[in-house]
Amino acid sequence: MTTATGYRQELVGVFGFPVDENPTVVMMDAAFQSLGLPWRYLTLKVAPTDLAAGIQGIRAMGFRGLNLTIPHKVEVLQYLDEVNADARIMGAVNTIYREGDRLIGANTDGKGFLRSLRDDARMDPAGRKFMILGAGGAARSICVELALAGASEIEIVNRTAARARELVDLLRQNTKARVTFREWNGEVSIPENIDGLVNATSIGLYPNVQELPALNFETIRPGMVVCDVIPNPPRTRFITEAESRGAVTLDGLGMLVYQGVIAFKLWTGIDAPVDVMKRALLLEFGG
Ligand code: NDP
Repeated sequence: MTTATGYRQELVGVFGFPVDENPTVVMMDAAFQSLGLPWRYLTLKVAPTDLAAGIQGIRAMGFRGLNLTIPHKVEVLQYLDEVNADARIMGAVNTIYREGDRLIGANTDGKGFLRSLRDDARMDPAGRKFMILGAGGAARSICVELALAGASEIEIVNRTAARARELVDLLRQNTKARVTFREWNGEVSIPENIDGLVNATSIGLYPNVQELPALNFETIRPGMVVCDVIPNPPRTRFITEAESRGAVTLDGLGMLVYQGVIAFKLWTGIDAPVDVMKRALLLEFGG
């Protein structure tokens, strides 16, 4: 593999459709600049029908890596040379990195969540019991990583039963965690034995900042770890309601930063400047 010299820069980026509002460039460029690396992160609008050509393009142009966002995370698998085990279980890739000429698929979303859980909330998920609100892409990546990290029980709460059942089956087939499902109609209460609660729905995402998941907040116990995947705003109503009941809280900004931190390391081989990346995003979100 060559390294940038002269005027040439190493390229990474993101494919999405739409993609204009994707903030990842802000934290990646801040990281490259702070370390003086001649790298650029490009935000690229690639239509679903152009995905194959786009991947061919990054091979031809020698991109060092790529992020994938909606709607490419699943479709991209067929164009890669290899897919890491956890990303294969999820059936979704959010990061491509290169080994020589080979393009390898990874999923850093759930891993970003795990790192945030361990580093920021000081919780080891092994042997712990979790309740997850939602069964979409974010929930899927979080549940797979929690189960692979040894979580003993995962209860999935979702509005659409079929989607949740798919996730339950996938976890039962590929992990050792005890997995159950509860249909979400009306206010849900948290069982007493739960150690960690995760809002993995899109409820509360800007601009719908007043929205709250239908949850009996009185069932949040002091000391329980309560996490939100919503990165913008970082302090959601869900987080502040949980905090006011004595929970240890984890916002979605941490997950977003760490999934980028893990991708950065896969691409550059260098430890990412976590604080620089976090500050850049906080500034972007007006925090
Ligand atoms: P999906 O569309 O795949 O899933 C959305 C989930 O939210 C589904 O389970 C859906 O339920 C549920 N949901 C949405 N609205 C409601 C509602 N009003 N009541 C009950 N359930 C609801 O989205 P993703 O999983 O990809 O993303 C979810 C959120 O996670 C997004 O806001 C995204 O910003 C965030 N995210 C954050 C990341 C980070 O690094 N911090 C990384 C990835 C995502 P149903 O199945 O019934 O439709």
